[in-house]
Amino acid sequence: MTKRQVYVDNNATTKVDERVVQEMLPYLSEYYGNPSSMHVFGGQVEKKLVEARERVAAMLNAEPTEIVFTSCGTESDNMAIHSALTSSPQKRHIITTKVEHPAVLNYCKHLSKRGYGVTFLSVDQDGMVDVDELYDSIREDTAIASIMYANNETGTILPLEKLSRIASEKGILFHTDAVQVAGKIPLDMQEIETIDMLSLSGHKFHAPKGIGILYIRRGTKFRPLLVGGHQERGRRPGTENTASIIAIGKAAELAQAALKDEATRVKALRDRLEQGLLSTIPDSRVNGHATQRTPNTLNISFKYVEGEAILLMLSEKGIAASSGSACTSGSLEPSHVLRALGVPFTFSHGSLRLSLSRFNTEDDIDYILEELPPIIRRLREISPFGRNKEEPQ
Ligand code: PLP
Repeated sequence: MTKRQVYVDNNATTKVDERVVQEMLPYLSEYYGNPSSMHVFGGQVEKKLVEARERVAAMLNAEPTEIVFTSCGTESDNMAIHSALTSSPQKRHIITTKVEHPAVLNYCKHLSKRGYGVTFLSVDQDGMVDVDELYDSIREDTAIASIMYANNETGTILPLEKLSRIASEKGILFHTDAVQVAGKIPLDMQEIETIDMLSLSGHKFHAPKGIGILYIRRGTKFRPLLVGGHQERGRRPGTENTASIIAIGKAAELAQAALKDEATRVKALRDRLEQGLLSTIPDSRVNGHATQRTPNTLNISFKYVEGEAILLMLSEKGIAASSGSACTSGSLEPSHVLRALGVPFTFSHGSLRLSLSRFNTEDDIDYILEELPPIIRRLREISPFGRNKEEPQ
């Protein structure tokens, strides 16, 4: 009998939807022309790129000309900030937050080492940015505020409408990393008119890895990061990743069509998982905002245990999740996000991120609710800091 597999690490990456695979496959074999070519081989592909751009634009309620295809979310984030700084070279200040993904956070740290001023806005215990703090941080020489739409670790959704409005009123550019939002909550660029640029990544909504989007509002001054050919109207040179662009177009169409039903269904699963774990595991708490949260994300901490130990034991049961205290660098430091939220040390080390997608089922939730509580019990029994034992200082 094959081992049961439950994948709840969808904020890291998602399964490519079979309908997306079918849409892109011919463009990896039969239709291989360069879309810039004048002949029929090029024309066949160019037609599909136009369609893909229209599909992505429809998902964002934007114009097709406002969509630029990139290689990933990271590139889109870097491009937006780079463009703001090079369009107005006299402006050398950037505002971002302490909880950004490294695609923004580390790029800003890199810029800070090169003489740019960077303000990292703090967040409250729910992961919310204070709108007034943004207002107060804007200076004469501020070029751009780059503030994420929703956090990848906690799912907290930031008050983008208010934040971007302040940026607009004060005459600075506003970019948002919306990588964790596509397919989860509506994205409407006509409704929020004050977002100048927005980044997306295909592999977070059932398209393949290695394809991203940068939305650039019409009229926004733009300077490319790469210098080369005329592709993407000169905004992102390089021969197009045609099959992946076609894939992200299809994924956008599917996300758009299913958004409401899917978000409702996934949220019900997530809420059942959350309630089930909180009610059966003492000394547990949810990290992130109670209601302003992406419908698929649950970041939960268990006192007295290590996140990595939970992950290993879950993995033995075929459950793929992620630890909120990512120790990718080899250190056991809690994640910068949980630290910014002020999650107490004893909780932040035992945090777990469970992130769902359209492919999760009620059975998956039952299985996690059956397997996770005994894992925490067992780990607490062997933990030197277990309940009724001495707490670390
Ligand atoms: N921004 C956020 C919020 C993310 O979660 C991720 C991926 O984890 C990225 C940016 C980077 O996207 P990509 O992997 O496409 O570079």
